Amino acid sequence: MNDYEYLLSPLDKIKGIGNKTIQLFFKKKIKTIFDLLWHLPISNIETSRTTEFKNLEIGKDQSVKLVPIKYSFPRIKNLPNRVNCISSNGKIDCIFFNSYEGYIKKILPINNETIVYGKIGFYKGKYQITNPKLVSINEDGVIKDLKNYSLTEGLSITKYNKIIQEVLKNIPDLKEWHSKNLIRKFNNVRWKESIEKIHNFEYEKLNNSDYLRRLTFDEILANFLISSQIRLKIKKIKKKRKHFDSNIKKEYLSKLKFDLTNDQKNAIRDIEKDLSSKERMFRLVQGDVGSGKTIVSLIAALNTIKSGYQVALMVPTEILAKQHYNFSKDFFNSDIKIELITGKIDYSSKKKILESLENNKINLIIGTHSLFQKKIKFSRLGLIIIDEQHKFGVNQRKELSDKGGNDCDVLVMSATPIPRTMMMTIYGDMDVTLIREKPKNRKEIKTYSKLDSKIEEVIKFAKKEIVNGGQVFWVCPLIEKSKKLDHQSAVEKNKYLQKFFDNRVGLIHGSMEKTDKNKILNDFLHKKIDVLVSTTVIEVGIDFPNANVIVIENANKYGLSQLHQLRGRVGRGNKKSYCILLFKSQLSENAKKRINILKSSNDGFEISEEDMKLRGYGDILGFKQSGIKKFKIADPILHRDLFELAEEEINKIEQNNSKLGEYYKLLKLYDRASIMNDII
Ligand code: ADP
Ligand code: MG
Repeated sequence: MNDYEYLLSPLDKIKGIGNKTIQLFFKKKIKTIFDLLWHLPISNIETSRTTEFKNLEIGKDQSVKLVPIKYSFPRIKNLPNRVNCISSNGKIDCIFFNSYEGYIKKILPINNETIVYGKIGFYKGKYQITNPKLVSINEDGVIKDLKNYSLTEGLSITKYNKIIQEVLKNIPDLKEWHSKNLIRKFNNVRWKESIEKIHNFEYEKLNNSDYLRRLTFDEILANFLISSQIRLKIKKIKKKRKHFDSNIKKEYLSKLKFDLTNDQKNAIRDIEKDLSSKERMFRLVQGDVGSGKTIVSLIAALNTIKSGYQVALMVPTEILAKQHYNFSKDFFNSDIKIELITGKIDYSSKKKILESLENNKINLIIGTHSLFQKKIKFSRLGLIIIDEQHKFGVNQRKELSDKGGNDCDVLVMSATPIPRTMMMTIYGDMDVTLIREKPKNRKEIKTYSKLDSKIEEVIKFAKKEIVNGGQVFWVCPLIEKSKKLDHQSAVEKNKYLQKFFDNRVGLIHGSMEKTDKNKILNDFLHKKIDVLVSTTVIEVGIDFPNANVIVIENANKYGLSQLHQLRGRVGRGNKKSYCILLFKSQLSENAKKRINILKSSNDGFEISEEDMKLRGYGDILGFKQSGIKKFKIADPILHRDLFELAEEEINKIEQNNSKLGEYYKLLKLYDRASIMNDII
């Protein structure tokens, strides 16, 4: 057995552990010895310092030495089982909900002195501890402090601690996977030592210890390494280089009414390098809304088509697909054949498109995720572009890159700036190009906050802008957990606003039929209406060049990044633009601070950084749903330095192009999703 294999073996390798206990651990998703060790204690229990009866404090977790004297098992539904006990100076009951008599009798035998740990309660004139955690007293009478783990019914603290200590006796002192230089930063503490200490240290001292920091770093690095290995694997697949003529690109660019920003040029350069290399491209271009990603992707498409390949452009909604289609039709010369696939087209047209696609008669196909149905076959797919899809997880992206075949490059465009420490966590499997610079002609978006009660002033202002040719988004509060209420507020606001804006108001919300929704969006796009009332469902990425005012109600309900994204819906044309945040009551100091960040910065990356500091990382723009692996101890805010260190380290590992070596163990141990099985 390799040294680390003991750690990955099932729990029955532990001396003295029974099948029943193993089942209990299973319930907590603890299946291997490593799982067990990685299930960290949640607090200390000072069992050696039991609390005297007179010092009991209601609501506090305390240890009490007591002797059970009588059971009471009422056998009536909802009535708990009870054990009357006495301590040195008074009576106290142990209360059990959902515990069997047999179990209770076993852990609290009558007349046996026992230490009971739990939250002290007081009910009908008597102290009690509900669902206590029990600690039997050692035979030699010596009581050790124990660690508190989150337990499951049937597993006592004493037993848990015993098992952990038994396991710790046998864990191998793994060969160090970090370089000498790196491990010096953690005062050379070893993995084994760290794990031992974590389970034996005084809980309060743990936080800033090298032991915990080393393990945190291990967790981050393992996570990054997994992504990095996926990336290297994708790169290992050799593809045919794409050859293209940069004069054609220049010709196309000269048709544009604007010059590219430097960041756009850099992005195109990165992509061209990828396309013409023999390694497959797996690149993310990340840039704020309005940073001009579309043109970058179309140049990539142009190059690919000019080297004889087909391109698929996938967008999240049909209306966006249509907009990209129209733009591409305008942009490309007629020698490039472009088709649009939406749900709307009739059967025979669709059949024709599919045939042409298979016969290489279409160069660029644009559509929603339906582009990846099995029945859609390409003749020579050379590039997949995914626009505005930020909610893909690592696994989905991997599937996608598998789909196109070996010669197919993948380009993902995301409009969700994220903090730097999250970048590697979320996109470590991709090469990333940032577009930070906004087009020069972009007008600044003025951001104001206003009290709800001043709504008529806001309406007056909006009317003035409409007279000057502008249009208005009106975003209604999102009422969490209630789609119905959510719509109601939008429906009512729609009714209310109609009378102020000569009935030129349209409404969209989440549960509308797609076709109805598209009609309203089209009406807005073509200026048949002036105001668009919606919940937050305003489609991402659609360009409404005339819209220059966005009103956001109940603005305190949103995170800063979300507000910034919403705000990005305006300011795309050349009109001066405004974002008006409505609040129900005066802002607190903290809320003012938040809003000031928004008012003073228009940089999505900076805002997301601040947002993360204020709200924690778990919730940044719905990344939760993407299946991004949760860290057990690492936290991108608390351990920012460690994330940065891990990023440096990954770069070194990749540059050295070295074999995984001892890191292999780190990967094996920390790969919770077993994703590495088919990679290394
Ligand atoms: P996003 O990055 O949000 O996808 P788009 O590609 O939709 O942004 O671009 C937004 C608008 O800015 C479009 O109307 C586009 O034509 C325009 N645009 C793109 N690049 C530039 C530039 N360098 N200078 C001026 N306008 C630009
Ligand atoms: Mg876009």
